[in-house]
Amino acid sequence: MFISGKCNLCNGPIIKINSTQFGQRCIFCRSTPIHRALGLAFADIRGRGALPADAAVYEMSSRGAFFNYLSKQYKNLQYSEYYDDVEPGAYKAGVQCQDVQRLTFGDASFDVVTSTEVFEHVPDDIKGYREVYRVLKPGGHLVFTVPLADTDKTVERAVLKEDGSIEHLLPPEYHGDRIRGSNGVLAFRTYGADIVDRLNSVGFSASIERYNSRKERVSNNAVVIALKG
Ligand SMILES: [Zn+2]
Repeated sequence: MFISGKCNLCNGPIIKINSTQFGQRCIFCRSTPIHRALGLAFADIRGRGALPADAAVYEMSSRGAFFNYLSKQYKNLQYSEYYDDVEPGAYKAGVQCQDVQRLTFGDASFDVVTSTEVFEHVPDDIKGYREVYRVLKPGGHLVFTVPLADTDKTVERAVLKEDGSIEHLLPPEYHGDRIRGSNGVLAFRTYGADIVDRLNSVGFSASIERYNSRKERVSNNAVVIALKG
């Protein structure tokens, strides 16, 4: 077994299990380069003094390598899942349900909000960004990943209509998740570099940061960082 790196989330060894971008896995926490790039982004923000150990953190999932890292680092951690059959704020199997388009948290509740590959699945992402802006404290950060195409403009793939039906503008693209299975979740859009403009339109100061680390096997992985100034 060839050890190719060391995980910044748990100090575990990273091995190459295949040649895709997800193939560089930590043996201990199962992190991918996406999770480790988020860890590098958190370390950056912490270095600027904006993320103390008692920070109020909200993560939009209840499992996985980055969730496990957050739950060790931050005592004041809120987390949730999205279930389409549960009212936001209610619990299912001990986990709170939240819809990022209508969060049940109060204004200025969090120092940092974070998610991994979520916003491309949110029907009205701008509404979601507005809600995250509302629940962040002034000076708080939204730190997240989405699949980013090497294009300037975001391509809308599908629209959720008022009657609840979905209009497909392009052939549907589904991504796997732990709850809905390997082909369970529709991607409403493919983001381009203008994701920054979408975030700035609701008040954030946003940027796309690219992370590289040989030691941690992170190679040009993008993390979007949006500051509520
Ligand atoms: Zn790890």
